[in-house]
Amino acid sequence: MPETKNLSIDGGRLWDSLMEMAKIGATEKGGCCRLALTDLDKQSRDLFAQWCKDAGCTLRVDKMGNIFARRAGRNDALPPVLTGSHLDTQPTGGRFDGVFGVLAGLEVVRTLNDLDYETDHPVEVAVWTNEEGSRFAPAMVASGVFGGVFDLEYGLSRADSEGKTMGEELERIGYAGEDEVGGRDVHAYFEAHIEQGPILEAEEKTIGIVTDAQGQRWYELILTGVESHAGPTPMARRKDALLGAAKVVQLVNSIGLKHAPVACATVGMLEVHPNSRNVIPGRVFLTIDFRHPDDDVLATMDKEMRAGLQEIVDGIGLESELDQIFYYAPIHFDETCVSAVRKGAEDCGYSMREIVSGAGHDACYLANVAPTSMIFVPCIDGISHNEIEDAKPEWITAGGNVLLRAVLEKAGHAA
Ligand SMILES: [Zn+2]
Repeated sequence: MPETKNLSIDGGRLWDSLMEMAKIGATEKGGCCRLALTDLDKQSRDLFAQWCKDAGCTLRVDKMGNIFARRAGRNDALPPVLTGSHLDTQPTGGRFDGVFGVLAGLEVVRTLNDLDYETDHPVEVAVWTNEEGSRFAPAMVASGVFGGVFDLEYGLSRADSEGKTMGEELERIGYAGEDEVGGRDVHAYFEAHIEQGPILEAEEKTIGIVTDAQGQRWYELILTGVESHAGPTPMARRKDALLGAAKVVQLVNSIGLKHAPVACATVGMLEVHPNSRNVIPGRVFLTIDFRHPDDDVLATMDKEMRAGLQEIVDGIGLESELDQIFYYAPIHFDETCVSAVRKGAEDCGYSMREIVSGAGHDACYLANVAPTSMIFVPCIDGISHNEIEDAKPEWITAGGNVLLRAVLEKAGHAA
C-alpha cells in the first residue's frame, strides 16, 4: 500500500462546486429550495451528471431515480465502495445539507483522478432521491427501497399534495432509470454530512465519528374532554383537553430530561379544537417524538409516557387515543467503517469526537444492506433546515479529506 499520509482533496474546488450547485434554487436569504423531482432538482442532477462525466465516470440511474457515478476499479468485478447523500432540500433549506455529501464524493473521485490513483474496488458516488420527505412523504424513501425497507411500488406511488406521484415526476424530469433498485453487493457505504446540531462546534471538534443513529418512536395523541362555555362552567367541573395536553408536554419533556443527554423528547404539533377564546377546549391533537440510540431506553420512555398519560387523563376526566405511527430502529454503524473514519481523521490530525446522529439519513437505510458509517462536520450554531445554514470552508475540506481516506481504506489502493 502506498503512503496516504499526504493525500489531500482540493478544498477550494469542493467549496466552489458547492457554491455553484447552491445557485440552483437559490433563495433571497442565501439558502436553497430544491424540492425533490422539481425542475430545479432536475437541473441539479444534470449539473452533477455533467461533472461526473467530465471526471470520467460512467453513470447509471435506477428505477427510483437514484444516480450512481462510477469510477472503475482495478478489479471492476469487485463490489463498489459507495459514498453520497442527496441533492434535494427543504423549502427553506441550506447550501450544505445533503449536497455536501454528494459533492465531497465527487471531490474524492476528482482527487483520485488528479493523483492517478487506482483503487482495487470501483468507487461510486450516489445521489439518493427525495431524502427530505418534504414534497413526498416519507423521508429517505428511495434509499429505503435500496435498503429493502420499502418495495418499489410503494416508493413510486408516493404522491405530493397535488397528487403527482414520484413515478410520474421521475418520468417527467427524465430520471426514471432502468436499473433495479438495490439487490447488488456494496462493499461499504460512507456518507459525509453536516452535523445539523451544535455539539461539534461547541466542543471545537472538526470531525464527528458517527457511531450510531438514534432510534425513533413517533406518536399521535388525541385527548378528548368536553367543550363548554368559559364563563358559566366552574373550574371543578371542567374536562379541559388543552390542560391535559399542557401536562403531556411537561411529561414528555421530563422523560427527555430524565434520559438526557442522548434522549430527545418533543411535542412538535398541537391542534386545539375549537380554538376559540371563550370555549374550554374539547379536543386536542398532538404529536410526540422520542429518540434514543438504545432500544431498551426507548421502550422505557414509551412505558413512562403511557403511565404518565393515564394519570393525566384520569385526573382530568379525559379520554385519550394514542397511536405509535412510526418506528425507526436504532442503528449501530459498522465497526470497520467507523474505524476507517477514525483512522482517516487521526491521519489528518483533526480534532474529533464520537457522536450519535439525531436525524435520519440515507445511511440509516444503507446500513441494512452494506457496512456503513458517517462523517459529520460542524455547521454554524448547529443550524440546519434553514436558509442561514452555514459551514466554514476548513470544516468542509476536513470532511472531504476524511472521506477520501475512509474510501481508500475500504477500496484498497495502489499508486
Ligand atoms: Zn440531509
